[in-house]
Amino acid sequence: MSADCAVIPRSWDTPELESFRDSVKKFVAAEVAPHAERFRQQQHVDRALWHKAGELGILLADIPDAYGGSGGSFAHQAIVFEELGYAGDMAFGGHVHAIVAHYILNQGTEQQKQKYLPQLADGSMIAAIAMSEPGAGSDLKGIRTSAVKGADGYRVHGSKTFISNGYLADLILVVVKTDPEAGTRGVSLLLLETRDNPGFKVGRILEKVGQKGQDTCELFFDGAHVGLDDVLGGVEGQGFAQLMTELPYERTILGVAGVAAIERALVLTVEHTRERRAFGQALIEMQNTRFVLAEIKTEATIARIFIDRCIEDMLAGRMDTVRASMAKYWISDLQCKVVDQCVQLFGGYGYMLEYPIAQMYVDARVQRIYGGANEIMKEIIARSL
Ligand SMILES: Cc1cc2nc3c(=O)[nH]c(=O)nc-3n(C[C@H](O)[C@H](O)[C@H](O)COP(=O)(O)OP(=O)(O)OC[C@H]3O[C@@H](n4cnc5c(N)ncnc54)[C@H](O)[C@@H]3O)c2cc1C
Repeated sequence: MSADCAVIPRSWDTPELESFRDSVKKFVAAEVAPHAERFRQQQHVDRALWHKAGELGILLADIPDAYGGSGGSFAHQAIVFEELGYAGDMAFGGHVHAIVAHYILNQGTEQQKQKYLPQLADGSMIAAIAMSEPGAGSDLKGIRTSAVKGADGYRVHGSKTFISNGYLADLILVVVKTDPEAGTRGVSLLLLETRDNPGFKVGRILEKVGQKGQDTCELFFDGAHVGLDDVLGGVEGQGFAQLMTELPYERTILGVAGVAAIERALVLTVEHTRERRAFGQALIEMQNTRFVLAEIKTEATIARIFIDRCIEDMLAGRMDTVRASMAKYWISDLQCKVVDQCVQLFGGYGYMLEYPIAQMYVDARVQRIYGGANEIMKEIIARSL
């Protein structure tokens, strides 16, 4: 899909951003989209893809160039996620990678920024974030993975599950308890390097309903080593506060990707219903089809206006947790509803995985679960009432 799918022009667009979008679009068309089926078969993307994305400067588009990033704004990063969304990619874990980089940029020590951000920017290191455990997902206070400090660093024990980029990750931001008696004040985020770390083991790549090209894994820590300097921010016990501060970035990104998916579903379905004929007319000439698509276009426009305002507020540094939660929950709910309606208009072809709309259907469902389940988003919003 080469045309711009946006239902209305983006309020934050500029000519400079358009030329950046063109280069991202070309990259996605050449390096990501043609390999989607192979990525699904092997359950992960190629490491080479990360290097190529790093060369083009799109891995950390909004990280300052002083740390190896491309020195752009959140708008640049949003463009990367929109273009991946328009191509239907759900394999490349650039989102999680960028999220980890932002933890380091905003919460890390100067030494941590200089050590890790350039390697994340050029793709020589791939990042993951490991919060969820078999016994604790929504309720992160219940995590059991622990880290014990010794003379040569920390030793991590425990396990994590559902970790995106888990198979390929070289750097994992692991949520651990450094003081199990201290409740949320005993939680820390550790920067764990996976190479040459004998206590670290990647479990199987999990068999998912959709997003099959994304390496979502179990991780095991049996005395895995983390250096004394690798507690994020340099001070133990800050983990919970750091998570609360950084989660809005992740949730806004999920909203950006969700709107792109809604817009793509609309374009695909208009195209199909124009071509497909039944009872002597194109499907799009039937009143039900036109009404459903009119509703979808209206909702897509509302979502576009909302996410554009969120992006503007990210750019101005005034995005807040409550609105990021609204973006995550409302847009992912809408994405699932819209894609389901589009599948209906495709008929049997909508259930065939060789059709992009069917792929979008299986890929979309988890948007309401990860990044904080939508019910948790509503709890956060409700606290602001
Ligand atoms: C494909 C995929 C990728 C993921 N990637 C990552 C990753 O990279 N890193 C990572 O750390 N985690 C990741 N996750 C984990 C994800 O964040 C969790 O699945 C999610 O937070 C929900 O946790 P849970 O699965 O333990 O569900 P639970 O916490 O058991 O919740 C189950 C359901 O109970 C309901 N519920 C829970 N709490 C409440 C409440 N307070 N009020 C009302 N209802 C509630 C909700 O409906 C929720 O969906 C990923 C998950 C998937 C499926």
